[in-house]
Amino acid sequence: MYKILPHPKVIKNYENKSYSFKTLNIKFKKCKETLIEKIKEIIKIKLEVYDSLNFDFDLNKNVDAVLEININYGLDSYLQVAGKEYENLFKLQGYVIDVKEKKVNIYFNDYRGAIFSISTLKQLICKKVDQPNYYITEVFILDYPEIEKRSLSTTFTWYAGYGRVGFDMQLWGFKQWKEFLELSSDYKITQLNLCMYGYWPFEFEDFPETVFRDFKMKVWNRESKNWLEIKYTHPNLVNQFLSRLIEYAHLFGIDIYTYIGLNSYNGGYSNVHKDKRMKLPPNSKFINDFDTLCLSNDSTIKYLRKCVQRVTELGVDGIIFEESEESFWFCNCDRCKDRFINTSPSLAEAKHKANYWLLSILYTDIKSVNPHCNIGLRAWREAPLEKEMDYLKKCEESMPKDVSLYWAPGLYVEENEFKKWVEVFGKDRICARDTEANAISACNGRLIRIFKDNILRPDDETNQQHIHNDLKQHKGSAALRVKGINGYIFEFYGLFMYFFLHANFGWDSKLEEEEFYDYAIESVFGNDLKDDILYVLKNLFTIHESQISLFTSEFPFMRNKVNKDDVLRIHKAQELWQDIENKILKIKDIIKNDRKLNIYYKHFEKIENSHRRSKEIYELCLNAIEYDNAKIPEKKIKFLKLIDYFNESDFDIAKELFFDIGIIDASGIRDSMFPYHELKRVINNILNPDSKDEKQIYLGVEALGWLWL
Ligand SMILES: [Zn+2]
Repeated sequence: MYKILPHPKVIKNYENKSYSFKTLNIKFKKCKETLIEKIKEIIKIKLEVYDSLNFDFDLNKNVDAVLEININYGLDSYLQVAGKEYENLFKLQGYVIDVKEKKVNIYFNDYRGAIFSISTLKQLICKKVDQPNYYITEVFILDYPEIEKRSLSTTFTWYAGYGRVGFDMQLWGFKQWKEFLELSSDYKITQLNLCMYGYWPFEFEDFPETVFRDFKMKVWNRESKNWLEIKYTHPNLVNQFLSRLIEYAHLFGIDIYTYIGLNSYNGGYSNVHKDKRMKLPPNSKFINDFDTLCLSNDSTIKYLRKCVQRVTELGVDGIIFEESEESFWFCNCDRCKDRFINTSPSLAEAKHKANYWLLSILYTDIKSVNPHCNIGLRAWREAPLEKEMDYLKKCEESMPKDVSLYWAPGLYVEENEFKKWVEVFGKDRICARDTEANAISACNGRLIRIFKDNILRPDDETNQQHIHNDLKQHKGSAALRVKGINGYIFEFYGLFMYFFLHANFGWDSKLEEEEFYDYAIESVFGNDLKDDILYVLKNLFTIHESQISLFTSEFPFMRNKVNKDDVLRIHKAQELWQDIENKILKIKDIIKNDRKLNIYYKHFEKIENSHRRSKEIYELCLNAIEYDNAKIPEKKIKFLKLIDYFNESDFDIAKELFFDIGIIDASGIRDSMFPYHELKRVINNILNPDSKDEKQIYLGVEALGWLWL
């Protein structure tokens, strides 16, 4: 039985008859010439993974073991089966595949439908290890999505130059992006939103100081075991590929949007021109003044306008703006006070007022460069999370009618709240919800957490961004048939389950949660690997190094601190550790040599690194609990030194795999996504009170806007 991902709408097995073949003979019927050329290219790219498979177009001579594939334009005879409700989406993206009597018949109506049919065909082709031929089994599939836009928000320069430099996808060049686009197309994604939230990853002649070039950072050098200072330049500035990426995406029917700040981390401007930042009120304890620029300075407005013009010129299909994650308007300069603070009922409203004004200007600038460039917005995300109907209506009236929403509620509120937003803004403007579980995982210093049970006492945490809640929201979006769903993939390696989930639930929302994990893993990795992979992913037990009381810097995404009552849970994880490790090694070994699966090798390399670190972190935590409870100073020191030891051994393992692991301080505050540095500082300060380092190292600037959580 085929397990196609995303789950098809209709799949019927005939009598389990299979046909073996070495060659595909592909014929086009009633298709336009221009489409034929593109579909041929798609077929070549998608089926390349089947090394020894020959494919030919309109082959007339007799060859051995050939399978005929007819690609037919037109879905009309199937419209009734799809039904009136989904007719439009069936025409736009749907397809039919009928494998019967030694033939494959494919039907489509639109380009995306043709692409998606080939994505499914790729999954229908099988091979047994010891046999020379490929085979396909008789099946009928009629398929279409429930949601038109299925987007992934990925990183391109996420807090780059502020909280981090380059990690995961941000380090990719064209080759890696090409692979990711191909994979996205295989799972029927229609849009990528590249997050550029920090220094710009493209040439910008008017403001070259704001691009991500020659950025000073320290990297760990394993050869001589020391930190070396280097100057980092974003891959797209070393060898420009963004326009090729957009072109390649379009071949697959994938739109490319950028996801940038609406006066929040716009390029390196606020680091380079510190005088242009918001002006804090006197005696403010707020440290994140580099997030937002003062909007009462003409040169700053000129800069922000040039930025969006430049981003539009890149040739993107859309731009999504994000309001600062800080909940309030902070600039207290005289003009901002007059314009925003003194004329608004609250500081949150002052922020929106400033942003409506800015958006109306940037909207015109974008449309003047490209009238077809779509505009999206993530806004009104601050508490109270339940909004009054009248308030939402005012929000809606405050912006141009063709601006779509890339955030609508879903977490910490009843589903009714989402319905309110859909009612006020209309189904066609809702393209995303609060499905950021992967982004929270990505803030975890490269430790893997996917499921709720991967972490310590999850129900006690204030943050409830887990994959389960992403799934629930996607189902809600499908039920109301809104325009789009979006899922975050801010880190990819090790976190492929999010990718499968976001791909599946915009397409078909039938499967229940547990059923889905099982289905997806079997679909991608096969029945033989399924149980081991699920066992590993579900049993990883991750404690963040900040979760010991000694660590005092706030980290809102993981607030629980380990204590005596957690010792049993940690011991249980220690008991399971070797078993999980053995399974990871076995999985790595199998997929390394599998032509189709080896793209996931990196994922398991990261999972193993995280798992090996966890072994050290468990010891770190147990010693931290002993430290907390020790009464005699000598004992305290003994446990402190053991914490120090395990902090180092944990970080040694991270050093083996990751590039961006140091401290970033270009904003003026010290920051690292690894708790290692802050913990080391705290320990050193206790051990050496005469030479204290008083400058705290914050755990990621991305966390600063969430301290209220
Ligand atoms: Zn100001």
